[in-house]
Amino acid sequence: MTFLPNTLSKKLWVFVTTTIILTIGFSFLLSNYFYEKLYVGKIRSGLLEEGTRISADYEGGPLSNELIEKVEWYNTKNESEVFIVSNPKELSACLPYEIDYDTIIGPEEREKLLNGHSVEKTGYEERFDRDVMAVIVPLIDSNRLEGIIYLYVPLAKITELTNDFSIVGVVVGLLFVILSVYIGTIFVRKMTKPLEIMKNAAEKVTAGDYSARVPIFSKDEIGQLGTAFNLMSASIQKEDERKKEFLADVSHELRTPISYVKGYSEALIAGLVKSYQDQERYLKIIHREASRMERLVGDLLDLSRLDSEDFRLELRPLPLAQLVEDCLDKYIPKLQEKGLVLRSDLDPDIIISADEGRIEQVIQNIVDNAINYTDKGQITVLLSKHEKGCQLSIKDTGIGIPSEDIQRVTQRFFRVNKARTRSDGGTGLGLAISNRLIQLHSGELEIESGSGEGTCITIILPVI
Ligand code: ADP
Repeated sequence: MTFLPNTLSKKLWVFVTTTIILTIGFSFLLSNYFYEKLYVGKIRSGLLEEGTRISADYEGGPLSNELIEKVEWYNTKNESEVFIVSNPKELSACLPYEIDYDTIIGPEEREKLLNGHSVEKTGYEERFDRDVMAVIVPLIDSNRLEGIIYLYVPLAKITELTNDFSIVGVVVGLLFVILSVYIGTIFVRKMTKPLEIMKNAAEKVTAGDYSARVPIFSKDEIGQLGTAFNLMSASIQKEDERKKEFLADVSHELRTPISYVKGYSEALIAGLVKSYQDQERYLKIIHREASRMERLVGDLLDLSRLDSEDFRLELRPLPLAQLVEDCLDKYIPKLQEKGLVLRSDLDPDIIISADEGRIEQVIQNIVDNAINYTDKGQITVLLSKHEKGCQLSIKDTGIGIPSEDIQRVTQRFFRVNKARTRSDGGTGLGLAISNRLIQLHSGELEIESGSGEGTCITIILPVI
């Protein structure tokens, strides 16, 4: 629709104006129709009735003078013109305007009259400058046309009919147009204003100002669009903040190991560290911090992979007890070193559909934590059936997690005690990764703990 203007308000404007014009045009047509139907129809039936009434006085035979006089008298008293003649050809003598006898009563009309039917005619008459309606009623006696009654009335023009209120009509019409244009303008403005506000807000969002929101004026589709817009910009804003925070966290996490590596290597290069033991100690620190960065980068890569759309788990049936046992075997030396007791009770019948490498990663991460944050006591690993499938719980008797932090330990980079976990080599990403992986396996990860009460981490997974 290229001929329409390209703003919505102008389109609506065109629509409203067209509607108004069409309405006025339609009412004009309608009034003409009613003029024809009501006024002309009423005149026609009036003339016919009059003619029939007069013809009732005719008693047969040639027209009597008495009847002719009666009709003449009637004519003077009556609004319409009435004539009675025995020969239609005499008509032209009575009428104030020219008539062509043959066109008024042609063969067809004659036939009708002879059959006793009346004939009606409407035509423009110059002398009156208007249409004239005429009715001819036959006077028949024994199949002979003894005479006719001719009645006519000049029709009022529709403009004359409406003359009385034509000024009122024009004023009212004009007021109607002004009022409807005024109301139309307000309506169009009211409708398009929120859309314009939304367009401006969308431009702001495009320019990077995600705080842009629009006021909601109504509950209709436009209001709903506004609400949807606000939700959209709020979530973009949240995502943007999350991204910034994440970047800040990453750089913060990298800064410390980098400064260690830089500082200690500089000292070594400058030859400031003389003794062999000190040199070895410095190198070990550099190595430790480099490993830390390696883990951090590895974890970050993992997280970004898990978040990406095309990440796919390689699912296959997996006897879980076997996997847990193989995993735990690797920790025996470490457990012995720390003097921790390992207790496990694993239901061998549980088969899950899972990505083996990923589930192993989760178990390793949780057991790593359990050993790291436990100085004495025992680690208990239980695998059993559960109403939602199976549950694997790893419980330690370590330092525990303060209850107010339990919700946050699965967040990226969250660590309860930054200083301690740093020396332990934790990145604060392990549980975030584990939680995400369990979610991807349609499972749940629950944490029960309290400061100094040990920690129990339970994974619930569907079974085959
Ligand atoms: P990290 O690599 O630092 O261990 P995680 O995401 O695995 O990162 O854990 C987040 C934080 O949760 C840890 O820094 C630690 O404070 C706390 N935490 C995790 N597991 C335990 C546990 N078994 N006992 C006590 N604290 C724990």
